[in-house]
Amino acid sequence: MKSDSREFYKSLKIGGITINIYFEEELLEEGMLGFSDFSGYGSEICLHPGLKNNPELFQTTLLHELFHQVSAIYSLDLEEVDVSVLAIAAIEIQNGLGEGLGKLEKTKKTKKT
Ligand SMILES: [Zn+2]
Repeated sequence: MKSDSREFYKSLKIGGITINIYFEEELLEEGMLGFSDFSGYGSEICLHPGLKNNPELFQTTLLHELFHQVSAIYSLDLEEVDVSVLAIAAIEIQNGLGEGLGKLEKTKKTKKT
């Protein structure tokens, strides 16, 4: 189902599968913020356009849907609660490690006193 209201956001690959991410309202049922489709070739995520006004909710919703994709791609059979926990944990990890997500940086030697 395609519609004019869909707005492409980004695509990325997980496990060799390309996932296209769109803002799209029509596919979403009342109250839904995101939706994942796993058709193998055309894996896609639809996000509610209203999320553009709420960066934090946008981030958790996008990660939530991405973990649904990970679950499908690797046949992990994750439950809804697993996906939700992973999305929040991923943000905590990112916040803790910074934008480079822990890419090894030069360490500072601390002198022993
Ligand atoms: Zn979900």
